[in-house]
Amino acid sequence: MTKPLRPEDRRPARLNALPKLPIFLDLAGKTILVVGGSDGIAWKAELLVAAGGTVRILADNPSPELLALIQGNPERLTLTQRSWRDADLHGVSVAVADIEGRQEAQLFADTARRHGALVNIVDQPAFCDFQFGTIVNRAPVIVSISTDGAAPILGQAIRRRIEAVLPPSLGTWAQAAKGFRDRLREIVPSKSGRRRFWEKFVDVTFISQAQEDEQLAEIERLARKTLLEVNERPPVGEVIIVGAGPGDPELLTLKAMRELQAADIIVYDRLVTPGVLELARREARRIHVGKEGHGASCRQEDINALIVDLALAGQRVVRLKGGDPAVFGRTGEEVAACHDAGVPVRIIPGITTASAAAASLNGSLTHRDHAQRVQFVTAHDRHGGLPENLNIDALADPQATTIIYMGRRTAFKLAARLIDAGLPPETPVAAVSNVSRDDQKSLHTTILDLAREAPLPEDGPLIIIIGASVGRARQIPIQRETTSSLHSKMRRCMVGVEQSSPTLATR
Ligand code: SAH
Repeated sequence: MTKPLRPEDRRPARLNALPKLPIFLDLAGKTILVVGGSDGIAWKAELLVAAGGTVRILADNPSPELLALIQGNPERLTLTQRSWRDADLHGVSVAVADIEGRQEAQLFADTARRHGALVNIVDQPAFCDFQFGTIVNRAPVIVSISTDGAAPILGQAIRRRIEAVLPPSLGTWAQAAKGFRDRLREIVPSKSGRRRFWEKFVDVTFISQAQEDEQLAEIERLARKTLLEVNERPPVGEVIIVGAGPGDPELLTLKAMRELQAADIIVYDRLVTPGVLELARREARRIHVGKEGHGASCRQEDINALIVDLALAGQRVVRLKGGDPAVFGRTGEEVAACHDAGVPVRIIPGITTASAAAASLNGSLTHRDHAQRVQFVTAHDRHGGLPENLNIDALADPQATTIIYMGRRTAFKLAARLIDAGLPPETPVAAVSNVSRDDQKSLHTTILDLAREAPLPEDGPLIIIIGASVGRARQIPIQRETTSSLHSKMRRCMVGVEQSSPTLATR
């Protein structure tokens, strides 16, 4: 049985503050009052009608565009050529007005609210209950973008990019799928099977060339195919061991992002950063099994049992580990536990800290002349001391680059032993903490100074690189993208659009 989880294990994903809450309003059968006659008002009236509302317009001086719009839809758009009064707002759900004077705007807003209407006054955010987003319309799919008034042109640019990524047929696919939900329940009775269907459906909507009249048939085929697959496999879930990289979310692989988005449960280590977790599916349950150094921690056997039990209960378990799971990650034990229990398990590699550290120093781990060999070593045995069985002669090879993981406590002692074993005292050393994170720090020194207890960067995980290849390497400033731009990129990678992004290349 799965052990009961501690309450803090169920904490939802961290959500940054939102300037506004995007909500989608049902206007079917609602009356909307629009005051003003400009082209901008015409555009808003058109939007409100498209969303199902019946719009009454009051305008002294309607623009030709507004008049043309009204002529085109006389049932849902009516015009009265006069200014507004209190009684006009009776029974109105949404009131939109183009009013310049602050006093009149205030009066209009107060009156509308008294009648229970939501208010928007053009270009006067202080009087607005809501704002119109910039939209991408693939009905029934709608994407709405807001910059909270910060930069409307930016909103437009975002819209163009999203327009380019979402195929025009997305709407008809979504519509077809909406009508297919009951039928799907008949064809694929299990919930997990239906989930699988929807994942495949997403891929199909972005890739398939099917015409609109062929879509339903293709959806039906997909459902039947899913059923066959589900029947072939027992209803166990699976474990996907995923490398989270050293901390910067941009160092995740596309596959890792895809798995984070498809997870039911994420079981993660202490080294996984909040920025990485933020990219996971919001509904996924998160379980922290962080190990604190060599002190009190979740025992490895408990973690093995946890992931196996969750998968046996039908869950898709993402076991998220810092760096690359294959490097000092006890991945072998977790894979073995899954095999023993008959749980399907896969591994998605990640960028190991050594690679990211070298990159952040503009350095290389190998060099044709003086580093033909790379060795990763842990300087930490199960009691927290220097492992007895280290091959010191190999580690003292001046022709190798040696990377020490988990070496904070034992680095000085190890350095002294390497010098004793013949490593030249002037051999360069780079000690880098918090690799790829905002607070990355590095110390560039020699093996002799390290043996003399040079002050290591104090906080956070630390990696030590020894060898001539880091002799010239120095930390370069960290540049990274914001999480929101990552999200839009993630959308692309999720659908398998493999086009190189100019922003990725230039940043
Ligand atoms: N699988 C991980 C290593 C896990 S062992 C990987 O491939 O990177 C844990 C050790 O990794 C830490 O003690 C530290 O030495 C190193 N480490 C992990 N993340 C790090 C980071 N962001 N900065 C510096 N060292 C890190």
